[in-house]
Amino acid sequence: MKNPLVTGHDAREITEQVSKLLRDVGNPEPPLSLQIIRDRLKLDLRYYSTVDHSFVRDAVHAIKVAGKQVLQRPTLLIDAVRRFDLRALWLPDRKRILIDQDLHPLKHRWAEVHETAHAIIPWHADYLLGDADTELSPTCCATIEAEANYACGQILFLQERFVEEVMSLPVTIESLKNLKQRFDNTYTSTLWRMVEEYCGSRPVVGIVSVHPIRLSDDFEPSDPCRYVIQSAKFREEFGKVTEVELFNALGSYCSRKRGGHLGTGQVSLVDDNGQQHEFLFETFCLRYKKPDQDLGFQALTLGVHQRKLSTGAARCGNRSVG
Ligand SMILES: [Zn+2]
Repeated sequence: MKNPLVTGHDAREITEQVSKLLRDVGNPEPPLSLQIIRDRLKLDLRYYSTVDHSFVRDAVHAIKVAGKQVLQRPTLLIDAVRRFDLRALWLPDRKRILIDQDLHPLKHRWAEVHETAHAIIPWHADYLLGDADTELSPTCCATIEAEANYACGQILFLQERFVEEVMSLPVTIESLKNLKQRFDNTYTSTLWRMVEEYCGSRPVVGIVSVHPIRLSDDFEPSDPCRYVIQSAKFREEFGKVTEVELFNALGSYCSRKRGGHLGTGQVSLVDDNGQQHEFLFETFCLRYKKPDQDLGFQALTLGVHQRKLSTGAARCGNRSVG
């Protein structure tokens, strides 16, 4: 899935709302404390459990999931939470954010600020918004969710502050690790912001995928990447490069290692005008514990444009450089 764009008037309005919020809390240094945001907006954060219903007993009239109206008539909140397998909710009338206590702790920060974003985007106020686990990841096709994620990214990464830091560092996995520590967000969301906010002249692509060599039985070759994140320049010039091509390129230089640095390789990609270009790709792998399962792998890749190759060079020119 490639990153959706929030543009035009809506993007500007969201940027203004976020700037105002960050100004109101004194333009803090990273990492952002969520408590000061909650205090400023007088938001009430509660954790719920689908076993203990005490916070989700209320009746609700309308609920949107991933921006789509799913419920019109009054129903019990707990029923809606169960029926749509929600992980986080925003209750506008009570200024309350509800987060499923079973959501992985690494995802709490994004979940809370995603719901906070619904609270500060004026045209989201009329709906009670529920979010399934997939919408809490940094993308979703629905406009309203894309807007919430856009605002969420700006809040957690402090807008221009992050952009300045990205532009002052080389576009490498090492920089990604530093920025992850500094802003205290997840690797995935940091990679995401790093690529989207990169405003230099080189096309950059970020890939979140399974381990490119250790494929599981349920691996789907036609849909191999969890996310492909394109910088503005990459989107403009390499919009026709497919997720399958990108994923297959990883196999040309990645090792079977179970974690850490998997490799660095020269990858050639064809731009939308049919010209060959060389990119430097770098991949590292995180291991995470899935509930009741073995360790899972998540590979994060950064690809940075190096140079244009002579027209008509062989397409399969990928090779490992380390
Ligand atoms: Zn949402």
